[in-house]
Amino acid sequence: MKMERILPYAKSLLKKAIQTGDVVVDATLGNGHDTLFLADLVGETGKVFGFDVQEEAIHASNERLSAHAMLERVTLFHEGHEHLSEKIPTNYHGKITGAIFNLGYLPGSDKSIVTQPETTIVAIEQLMKIMAPQGIIVLVIYHGHEKGAVERDSLIQYCQEIDQKTAHVLQYQFINQLNNPPFVVAIEKR
Ligand code: SAM
Repeated sequence: MKMERILPYAKSLLKKAIQTGDVVVDATLGNGHDTLFLADLVGETGKVFGFDVQEEAIHASNERLSAHAMLERVTLFHEGHEHLSEKIPTNYHGKITGAIFNLGYLPGSDKSIVTQPETTIVAIEQLMKIMAPQGIIVLVIYHGHEKGAVERDSLIQYCQEIDQKTAHVLQYQFINQLNNPPFVVAIEKR
């Protein structure tokens, strides 16, 4: 297939938004794959802030970053992303150029612990205030699991109503595939 698949597309958007030395956010650490990707993008002079509500995710991310000698440029918070504006020191506010939310549950773990649309929306609103202009928030929406459809509908509705004077919002999705594969919604602050 020549068209870009969903996860590579999410990464392409982040690559466009983020430069060496930037400040970025991984709103859902999970096993730390995205954190590692972001840490590599920002380089030694950059900063990544990561959030997860599960100790297991903090541990897995910590291990992954240590194994790649990238822990120093990352701060991990065992906290919900809905607290990001109070957790990220104010000297970084206004400087964040990219953020990713990989929604749903932690693969291989407790499937009852899933992201919730209410807290995801609170976090997006906080990010919109503390991001730099042209900063991009990427949401990877998994709607195949039990509560995924509810989250998808709430987020789509919320994102469709964002004033176009404040952000550009896009949806990137294959619409003829079985089993509800994930799709991307991206928000670029104006
Ligand atoms: N990006 C991850 C990776 O690269 O492995 C996968 C993330 S996983 C699909 C979703 C994660 O969101 C889970 O680890 C879950 O614990 C976390 N989560 C759920 N609610 C959260 C919240 N309010 N704030 C931050 N993380 C949350």
